This record gives sequence, structure tokens and C-alpha cells, in this order.
Amino acid sequence: MGFLNGKRALITGVASKRSIAWGIAEAMHAQGAELAFTYQNERLESRVRDLAGQLDSDFLMPLDVADDAQIDALPDAIQSRWDGLDIIVHAVAHAPRDHLDGDYLENLTREGFSQAHDISSYSLAAMGKALRPLLTDQSAILTLTYLGAERAMPNYNVMGVAKASLEANVRYMAYAMGPSGVRVNAVSAGAIRTLAASGIGDFRKLLDQAEKMSPLRKNVTTEEVGNTAAFLCSDLASGITGEIVYVDAGANFTVAVDV
Ligand code: NAD
Repeated sequence: MGFLNGKRALITGVASKRSIAWGIAEAMHAQGAELAFTYQNERLESRVRDLAGQLDSDFLMPLDVADDAQIDALPDAIQSRWDGLDIIVHAVAHAPRDHLDGDYLENLTREGFSQAHDISSYSLAAMGKALRPLLTDQSAILTLTYLGAERAMPNYNVMGVAKASLEANVRYMAYAMGPSGVRVNAVSAGAIRTLAASGIGDFRKLLDQAEKMSPLRKNVTTEEVGNTAAFLCSDLASGITGEIVYVDAGANFTVAVDV
């Protein structure tokens, strides 16, 4: 018996075995949750189908969060098999690549700014809004953020601004949905080498620095993020909502000093 026994979880953001969403899916599966997966596009469908199968799931649905029609189709897709939903994992982010390198303002465009906020922040609220009628009174929504929401960091640029919006979204959604028993939290994960992260300029340096700066002297794994996410979405965390929980080996509270 796991601590997510009987819970039904919708997992977004799986693109590969390196995805943080995959670490979360594995942890939730290990704790007894039943899983459904979304895939961003046809190119990813078969890969996500293979991965889902490894966690005993064949419940898949398309979801490009830039497309309102696909968000609106989620409730019917879920209800084709489940009569409710207990967990939503939002592990989706995107900004144009040229916005994630160098001077923040140099390549910034209105379109790039909007896209980063649309895909990386608005989508959380849009999914919460669409799926609200299906959520049980002990359900949880979880998203992924990064320290660049609070601190100016090299190259993270517009994504940091979008993550700040996402974190405020967590608090406003927690406030709006709390009376119905729905909790909304974020994990602020340390740097992890994934497909999305490879789009950020000099990501290797960020990894090296986080390893040196963190009290635990390491980079975190998707498994460590997954375990915390599983806990936050379980009834064990019934008193926690609107929080940004760091899973970063402590890197967030230290400063970079060469000693
Ligand atoms: P990833 O590339 O494995 O996952 C990103 C996912 O976003 C992919 O599955 C992709 O299909 C999806 N996506 C992008 N645009 C989409 C759209 N329009 N519609 C639907 N899905 C879309 O990378 P990851 O690092 O696992 O990213 C997951 C989350 O974790 C992101 O929010 C990211 O910002 C966050 N995060 C990552 C790190 C890190 O260092 N990797 C650190 C902190 C937070």
C-alpha cells in the first residue's frame, strides 16, 4: 500500500526519461497512483506511450497548452475512463531559444515574452479552470518552478519572469480553490539536465555552480524531485497549499563565493 493508493493523476510534460515529469510519474506510480499522460504533439506520442506503458498506463491524451481547444477537451478525455481526478502535474515550460541566452533585453520581443508567459504560467491556470469540476475535495495541483523566479540569473531571462508569474499563479489558485479542498503547490527544483534545460545558455555552468554552492554538494535528481512532488500531492501534505518547496540540495540559500 502506497500513500497515493486510489489517487488518479494526470501527468503533463513527459518528453523523455530525463524529464522531471517522468521522475514524478515514477514516484507516484511507486506510491500506488493510477496515471494518465498528456503528450505535446504527434512527434512525442509514441515515446510517451512507451513510457506510460512502463508505469502500467495506456491512458493518453494530446495536450498542446497553447491550444484552447485541447485544454477544453481534457475533461471529456479524463471522463472517458475516470469519474474524477485527484492530482494534476503541470511540468510544462517554453520560451523562444534566443530569449534564453545573453542580455535579457537584447533579444526580447513582445511575442517571446507573451509566449513564455502563455505556455509556462497561463497554462497552469487554464488547466486548473478546465479541470476544476472533476477535482475531488482532497485533490492537489503541482507545478515546477526555478530559483530564477526570485533571483536574476545569467541567461534564464524571460523564463525567470514567467516563473515569477507562475509562482504568483500558485498562490492565487490556492486561494481560489482552497475552499473546495484543492491544494496548489510548486516544487522549485535545482538545475537538472533535461531537454528544456539544454535550451538555456551555459546550462553546464549553472549545474557546476549549483553543485559547488549547495550544502549537500550535489545536483538533485528527477527521483528526488519526484518523491517530494508525490508527497505534496498526497494526503500526507493535507495542510500545505500555496507553497513553493525547494528541492535543490539547499542551493537557494547560499551565495557563490570562491573559497
Ligand atoms: P523537459 O524538456 O523534459 O520537459 C518540458 C516539457 O514541456 C516537455 O514535455 C514538452 O513537451 C512540454 N511542453 C513545452 N511546450 C509545451 C506546450 N505548448 N504544450 C504542452 N507541453 C509543452 O524539461 P524539464 O526540465 O523536465 O521541464 C519540466 C518543468 O520543470 C518545466 O516547467 C521547467 O521549467 C521546470 N524546471 C526545470 C529545471 C531543470 O533544471 N531542468 C529546474 C527547475 C524547474
